[in-house]
Amino acid sequence: MAKKKNQQQCCSFCGRPADHADVLIPSAVDEGVFLCSECADSIHELLTEFRGNVAAGKGAKRPGADDSQEMKRIPKPKEICEFLDQYVIGQESAKRYLSVAVYNHYKRLQQPRGENDDVDIEKSNIVLVGPTGTGKTLLAKTIAKMLDVPFTIVDATVLTQAGYVGEDIESLLTRLLQVADYDVEKAQRGIVFIDEIDKIARKGDNPSITRDVSGEGVQQGLLKLLEGSIVNVPPQGGRKHPEQRMIPVDTKDILFICGGAFDGIERKIAQRLNTHVVGYSTDEARKRINRDNYLAYVAPQDLKSFGLIPEIIGRLPILTHLDPLDRDALRRVLTEPKNAITRQYEKLFAMDGVKLTFTPEALDTIVDKAIEYKLGARGLRAIVETVMIDAMFEIPSGKKKSFEVTGEYVLDKLRSSHYELNK
Ligand code: ADP
Repeated sequence: MAKKKNQQQCCSFCGRPADHADVLIPSAVDEGVFLCSECADSIHELLTEFRGNVAAGKGAKRPGADDSQEMKRIPKPKEICEFLDQYVIGQESAKRYLSVAVYNHYKRLQQPRGENDDVDIEKSNIVLVGPTGTGKTLLAKTIAKMLDVPFTIVDATVLTQAGYVGEDIESLLTRLLQVADYDVEKAQRGIVFIDEIDKIARKGDNPSITRDVSGEGVQQGLLKLLEGSIVNVPPQGGRKHPEQRMIPVDTKDILFICGGAFDGIERKIAQRLNTHVVGYSTDEARKRINRDNYLAYVAPQDLKSFGLIPEIIGRLPILTHLDPLDRDALRRVLTEPKNAITRQYEKLFAMDGVKLTFTPEALDTIVDKAIEYKLGARGLRAIVETVMIDAMFEIPSGKKKSFEVTGEYVLDKLRSSHYELNK
């Protein structure tokens, strides 16, 4: 590959000429052999992903290896859970159920389907019940990070019964097809996270205000997807047009994970538990109930009282809950996850050569304010953003090599912000 005289130097990897590359890195051994900066970046990304996969126990799928090797090693439930632990604080019950469900999903995809094999492992779709901002979507997204199957998050609130304004149920699968690059086989092994499933509850049985009056119709449509059938999916999503070419997708092996806040379901659980305890049990059983967290006792019949039709509940056999995040959990959310908010800011400052630290009092104050403003985990980022804006504006042009955020600094910055205006 020696460079011929007068010929423009170019990358030996992709052929990019020197005037189209940021930098051409010359080979140490072969004159005229170069690697362009763009190829170097791609290689770096591939290797980071590869090493991340190995570290996450996802198996050593080497860059460029073909997809047939992809499913050889199944991450064990404990490995999946350990991975989730790095990003999601608490929520032990949901993590356990999700890890097992995802593990079984992989196994089902690999099950031998011989003629003499009568046992067919069926899928177990999941429903996560928990207050908003406690990590349902975060769990789903984190699972997606370590998966080798197409994964997508869709919102149930955009769905309407065929014929109404909104999106057809089948469009749930459009996104899955898109992330699978329209490889139908691959999409048919994917996982779909349906958020806000509680918003399609039947209105009649549901005391809370729901947005969708045709909830039951949407549930009937969804049922077809959950139970496994061949559906015609509009490749571009939205409404079906008569002239649009549809892609048939078999949903038999697609795993559905549903999430919802089910506001007010605690009342139904409490009602059920209280009648049950009075009717059949002793004081002992009554004492064992933790009345601060009724959600932990959620059962299929509560979803029914909330307004999900029994057929849907039957197709979501795994039911688990997420706990509300208390003060201690919020404090941990700030600092412990791999991409915790404070770590992100430390990284931002480090890129300007500045060492950023938050004192314990600063962290406590941020958490106190998130609780005071009733913003929960979602509010932590907004508060830190407000606190840091001035420093982020000033520091890059200054000479400081370190910056400490104290409790007093947090209070001072919040005092002059819109958060305190209404008080
Ligand atoms: P929801 O339960 O409404 O789906 P999200 O998962 O979207 O809530 O959470 C909102 C944000 O709050 C997340 O992006 C994350 O930053 C933070 N968060 C919520 N719960 C947790 C948790 N258990 N561990 C770590 N961060 C969390």
